[in-house]
Amino acid sequence: MSYEYQRKMLVEYLKREGVIRSKDVEEAFLAIPREQFVPEHLKEYAYQDTPLPIGFGQTISAPHMVAIMTEELSVEPGNRVLEIGTGSGYQAAILAYIVSKDPRGHVYTIERIAGLAKRALINIAKAKPELLDFITIAIGDGTLGLEPFAPFDRIIVTAASPKIPEPLLRQLKPMGKMVIPVGDRWEQILQIVTKDEKGRIRIRDSIPCIFVPLIGEYGWKDNLYQYY
Ligand code: SAM
Repeated sequence: MSYEYQRKMLVEYLKREGVIRSKDVEEAFLAIPREQFVPEHLKEYAYQDTPLPIGFGQTISAPHMVAIMTEELSVEPGNRVLEIGTGSGYQAAILAYIVSKDPRGHVYTIERIAGLAKRALINIAKAKPELLDFITIAIGDGTLGLEPFAPFDRIIVTAASPKIPEPLLRQLKPMGKMVIPVGDRWEQILQIVTKDEKGRIRIRDSIPCIFVPLIGEYGWKDNLYQYY
């Protein structure tokens, strides 16, 4: 079975499950080849709905989790989005596909492991080179946000945090939205954070989830799962 066929089957499954709900997210999932974001020896599993290892003890999230987070983020063409945890670059590519429908859109993504950030750049270049104009990859501690490019319409954190990092709340625009897994190291709740026009914050609990830890000044201070 071709990757394209497997991708269509996965999208049909995620729609049937009610996970993909919008046209924008469906189109992005059909356009971005997930097989380009996983290691060569795992390509045959690229369209199974499961997380996969990407090296450095990190993972590419399961497709249903990428879809749920992207839908919850309500990302729109033209949005300026900040992602914490570039990993393979897949989520950044999905987001960039949507925001780039309006040329003002841009995705800034931060990764603390330089080797992953470099690989993510290569993955995106192979998968959809035209998206490179809409994606900036930074190396560093994403819990600090990305002050020079703030504020952001949307913020997505793809690693588990003990609390919502204060710099991220500050760098979210009024009427902005953030999705972030918050909890302990073993399980978390996906929280949906909104800021109203007066800067008031509201937090809604979405689904339970399990992410690798967010390591940094406003996250976990050490990594219990370090497998370099
Ligand atoms: N979004 C990724 C994708 O599409 O492949 C998956 C992200 S993976 C589940 C979590 C990533 O967060 C890892 O690559 C990890 O190195 C990164 N990470 C953890 N703490 C971080 C921090 N403080 N700043 C930036 N990246 C961080």
